[in-house]
Amino acid sequence: MKNFLIYIPLLAIISSCSSNKNNNTSSFESTDEAVIVEVSIDSLTGSIEKIDRSNEDWKLRLTELEYQVLREAGTERAFTGELWDNKRKGTYTCAGCDLPLFDSETKFRSGTGWPSFWEPANSLCVAEEVDNAYGWNRVEVLCARCDGHLGHVFEDGPEPTGLRYCINSVSLNFVEN
Ligand code: FE
Repeated sequence: MKNFLIYIPLLAIISSCSSNKNNNTSSFESTDEAVIVEVSIDSLTGSIEKIDRSNEDWKLRLTELEYQVLREAGTERAFTGELWDNKRKGTYTCAGCDLPLFDSETKFRSGTGWPSFWEPANSLCVAEEVDNAYGWNRVEVLCARCDGHLGHVFEDGPEPTGLRYCINSVSLNFVEN
C-alpha cells in the first residue's frame, strides 16, 4: 500500500474518513480548508470534487504545450516527452492539478513513445469518455479532478488488465519515491 502526500481541499474522502477516525491515525474532518494529509492513494473511495478554472486561468498556469494537450485534447509527438522512457520508481501526477494518477509499478514498455500503464493508481482519479474525433471510436482518459486530457486507453495492453493507458508525458509530473 502506497502512501502519498496530497493537497486536499478538493478531495471528498468518504469511507477512509470513518476508518481513520476509528483508529485515530489521521483526520480528514477539516475539509473546508486546504490541508496536506497523508493518504493511501490506492485505497481512496468516494468521489473527487472537481476543479473548475477558466481558460484564461489555465493559460496562466500551464505552458503552451501543456495547455494544448490538457485543455485542448492535443497529442504530443511520440518519443519527445520527458517521461515516456522514465524507469524510476514513483508516482505520476496530473500536470494540471497534481492529483496522483499512475504508479510506476504499472508502467510498461509499449514501444509507442508515450508513457504507458496497465492500470490507474485509483480508478476514481481517472475518468473515461468515448472519443469519436476523426471517426475513430476511442476512449479518452481524463483527470477526474481538473478534466485535463491525458490520453486514451486501448484494449491491447499486458496482463493483468489487458489495458494500455497511453498517456501524454506533458500531462504528467513525476514524483520519485
Ligand atoms: Fe488534474
